[in-house]
Amino acid sequence: MFDYHIHSLVSTDGHDAPLTMAKAAAVAGLQEICFTDHLDYVPDMWYMDFDTGVYRAVYHELQVPGLRIRRGMEFGLTPDNQEQFWKDLKRYPFDFVIGSVHIVAGEDIYFPPYWQGKTVAQAYTRYFEEILACVQAHQGFDVLGHMTYISKARANPTNAPVRLDDVTDLADEIFKVLVQKGIGLELNTSGLGRSGDFLPPPAFLRRFRQLGGEIVTIGSDAHTAERVGEHIPEGLEILKEIFGYVCTFADRKPIFHKL
Ligand SMILES: [Zn+2]
Ligand SMILES: [Zn+2]
Repeated sequence: MFDYHIHSLVSTDGHDAPLTMAKAAAVAGLQEICFTDHLDYVPDMWYMDFDTGVYRAVYHELQVPGLRIRRGMEFGLTPDNQEQFWKDLKRYPFDFVIGSVHIVAGEDIYFPPYWQGKTVAQAYTRYFEEILACVQAHQGFDVLGHMTYISKARANPTNAPVRLDDVTDLADEIFKVLVQKGIGLELNTSGLGRSGDFLPPPAFLRRFRQLGGEIVTIGSDAHTAERVGEHIPEGLEILKEIFGYVCTFADRKPIFHKL
């Protein structure tokens, strides 16, 4: 089993030391994990950065018997931060890079201000338009992270997953760009407890596959040791049915594992 979306306290919102998290992964029966700490900032608004020296120091020598450990990051995409992305890519020889959209026009969609003056349908549409703009503007990341992250936003009044029917045309556009650029999709298991389904739900993954998507990873988005590996077995069942495999990464190259 693999968990390819984990935040240790290297991330500004992480809670546990890398060694604690890696040991928890081994206890949970995982064979491989990838740390994906946040680099996500909008000038004067939003700041999630890590110190590259600290990153190097804590991960470089990290070892736990029986566990393969990869080093990655989760970059916060905006339609105009491609140059910043290239700079950040050079900070470390990352194995794996998630591109995620947390912010729309300077507003964190997690919190109420983004939702003010919008119906739920408008909030979803605007978010997916922003994802489309981001994937069109960017390249050079490995997978799109938690595509329906808006489902678990604290300010989302529905407490329910986004359905493919809610955003069909935009999702198709996003998938076509990802496929054309050779970028994969993540199955993020953190939505199960919070909004009742994976991020994104299986229908999205099926559609991505239909449109030619090949690269797919799985991650818990754990910010604490006890969540490492959470719902990974259930997620792998879904990927087995839709793809028949899951990907890990080394030196930014996908490795396909038959399920
Ligand atoms: Zn994220
Ligand atoms: Zn994350």
